[in-house]
This record gives sequence, C-alpha cells and structure tokens, in this order.
Amino acid sequence: MSEPHPVETTDPEDRARAIQSLLIEKGLASTDAIDEIVSKYEEDIGSMNGARAVAKAWTDPEYKEWLLSDASTALDELGYTGLEGVDLGVYENTPEVHNVIVCTLCSCFPWPTLGLPPTWYKAPPYRAKMVKYPRRTLREEFDLDLDDDIEIKVRDTSAEVRYMVLPQRPAGTEGMSEEELAELITRDSMIGVERLGEKHADELR
Ligand code: FE
Repeated sequence: MSEPHPVETTDPEDRARAIQSLLIEKGLASTDAIDEIVSKYEEDIGSMNGARAVAKAWTDPEYKEWLLSDASTALDELGYTGLEGVDLGVYENTPEVHNVIVCTLCSCFPWPTLGLPPTWYKAPPYRAKMVKYPRRTLREEFDLDLDDDIEIKVRDTSAEVRYMVLPQRPAGTEGMSEEELAELITRDSMIGVERLGEKHADELR
C-alpha cells in the first residue's frame, strides 16, 4: 500500500479540511467538538458582539475612546475575547476617512466580535483587489460608491492583530437606545464594505 502523497494546495479551506481530517483520524479531535465550535461562532456569536460594542461606543464617549485606544481591553470588559481574538484593534470611520479590513495572507478575522468570516472575505479576489484598488472594489463588488474626497484606509489583519471598523452613526438615530442601535449595525459595516445609511434607521421605525 502506498502512502498518500502530499497534495499542494493554496486554498486555506482545503488546508483546514485536510488538517481537520488528520486530527479526527489521529483521535485528537472529534467532528462533534469541531462542529460545536463552528456553530457557536456562526449562530450564537455572529456579529452581535461587535454590534453591541459599536452601539455602546456611539452612546458612551468614554467607552468609545477606550475602544479606539485599547480595543482588546475594552472588548474584554464586555466579555468579547477568546479564540482568534487575542489582540484586537478598532478603526473609526469618519466623514473624511473610511476604513476597510482585509487579510491579504489568508482569512484572519475578529471572531469574538464578528463571528466567522463570510466566504467572499476569504476568497483571493477580495484579498487581492481590496488592497490594490479599494475604491473600485467597494464600488464594483459592494455597491459602495465613496466620494473622491473620502480617504480609504485598508487595514491588513494578521494572525497577531485582528481589526474591526467602528462605523459612523447614521443620521436620524439620535433618540435610539443602545439596544435599538445595536440592531442597525451590520457585520459588513464593521468590515467596512457597507456604510450605514438613513435608510436603515427609517426601516426600523
Ligand atoms: Fe489571515
């Protein structure tokens, strides 16, 4: 019987699947345990933690300052730490600056605040194009047409530091509670491929 020969692959998903089968084969992990972790991040956490942190920052200036200067500790205060999120950074979108996150190397993502990364985030076209042509990519792939005078900053996430975006609070949301605000905040707005508009606030009323 011949040994299975190594297959070269550059797709992180293929590699992860190969590692997962090996771990199961060697009895180091069970499919149940892996499924449980995945479903926890997919269904229980999702991007709600990030949304709650953003809503808190919108309504509490002191917390916002803390979140922007020392995100890991500020998020830990809310209980949002753990797997894949040891060192976290938050960048604020303003009328002048728009931040967007990407992992050019693979698919690093702030799991504790945004859950598991969407498929397109892990795909090579997004990773390559966003770094080189952010304005065009946001317009063509995400229907987000930013004015030329808005500076776009692409934040390259890594295995060591994971970033998320603090989106701008939409106009017309002045009277809303923290809980109501959290409902408006989408995962994509915290990746930086969407801007929260007045449309979202209107829809809620
Ligand atoms: Fe990565």
